[in-house]
Amino acid sequence: MALIVQKYGGSSVADAESIKRVAARIVETRRAGNEVVVVVSAMGDTTDEFLDLALAVSDSAPTGRELDMLLTAGERISMALLAIAIKGLGQEARSYTGSQAGMITDEKHGSARIVEVTPGRVREALDHGAVAIVAGFQGFNRLTGDITTLGRGGSDTTAVALAAALGADVCEIYTDVDGIFTADPRVVPSARKIDRITSEEMLELAAGGAKVLYIRAVEYARRHGVTLHVRSSFSHNEGTLVVNAKDGEIVEEPIITGIAADLSEDKITVVGVPDIPGKAAQIFTIVARTNANIDMIVQNISSASTGLADISFTLPKFQAQKALDALTDEKNAVGFESLQHDDQIGKLALVGAGMRTNAGVSAKLFTALFDAGINIEMISTSEIRISVVTRAENINEAVRVVHKAFELDAEVEAVVYGGTGR
Ligand code: ASP
Ligand code: MG
Repeated sequence: MALIVQKYGGSSVADAESIKRVAARIVETRRAGNEVVVVVSAMGDTTDEFLDLALAVSDSAPTGRELDMLLTAGERISMALLAIAIKGLGQEARSYTGSQAGMITDEKHGSARIVEVTPGRVREALDHGAVAIVAGFQGFNRLTGDITTLGRGGSDTTAVALAAALGADVCEIYTDVDGIFTADPRVVPSARKIDRITSEEMLELAAGGAKVLYIRAVEYARRHGVTLHVRSSFSHNEGTLVVNAKDGEIVEEPIITGIAADLSEDKITVVGVPDIPGKAAQIFTIVARTNANIDMIVQNISSASTGLADISFTLPKFQAQKALDALTDEKNAVGFESLQHDDQIGKLALVGAGMRTNAGVSAKLFTALFDAGINIEMISTSEIRISVVTRAENINEAVRVVHKAFELDAEVEAVVYGGTGR
């Protein structure tokens, strides 16, 4: 008997029909002799709709305690409906909110971190032969006594944390495509499904903007040795295994594993910075105080005649204005000339563990973009990733030509079963 944690995303439980289909699948897994814990997201685009509603009733951007109260209602609806559907099929099921399931977090509303998991009631439900259904994306802070959320896409993290705490054999993440692909199949129909990927590569893809798995869930799984199986709730096809390479284990790694794209960042350029020691430190200290997550940084060479340099960096769109304001406040102290804000950038990340031992990967990437007439504005690299910034309008084309250049195209078209991609 195996203990399986299954997580179903919003598009897998978007309506009554889908909930019934998922319920049948859960019952099938249970009747095959497994213990089953299910984590659900809110139905379809419910979370976004709740956010729109919150904005509609108030002029100030909603945050904090009340927003978390609102958003967690989405998962509460889907967990209860799923439990009702499973019971309707003659299988015992019990639904639990995040706090009932023992997801203890810190107190940060909207981006809480899990600090402890005490799944006593979930274990009890399993011992009684029931399927346990847990609302994803939410927890409880002991100090404040309040309900928290883990940040958008947080249900993946809930599932992984429960799998770790319960010692599950596998954590299955159900989505609307057959697994992890070499590129987003919505953008590249010829993208190929990956059978097996290391958590290291998956982390880089997630950091590069791949939305199929959230980075915090992959990090958590890596740290706690949880095996992830990403698969479709619409088919019975084998999905993608995200494995933690054991120490000393040699796995034959493909040179290129996949390509991710990201349209969620902006670029800020600090123009005319005096080219003397301490200026970068000053600028990024100011930006750090706004809590911005800086991604790529490029500094050009100062021209000898002026002794001034430009420093560009990228950061999440929603953090750009705060960073600009903070820099403007310190303009005289830093001594730069002006600020530029570019909200039309796209980022492409090419990932593959085999890059370490293969030359010529960057040359091939840049040549493919050049052949397509796409200008590269910034470049950054890690051991197993190369990222470039292009115009936002070019990003999909960039992904397609790079995918082709590295011969990642499959013979057959990838199937996208559902979801609005919102
Ligand atoms: N419902 C939440 C969201 O849309 C959490 C999740 O789906 O994982 O972000
Ligand atoms: Mg969702």
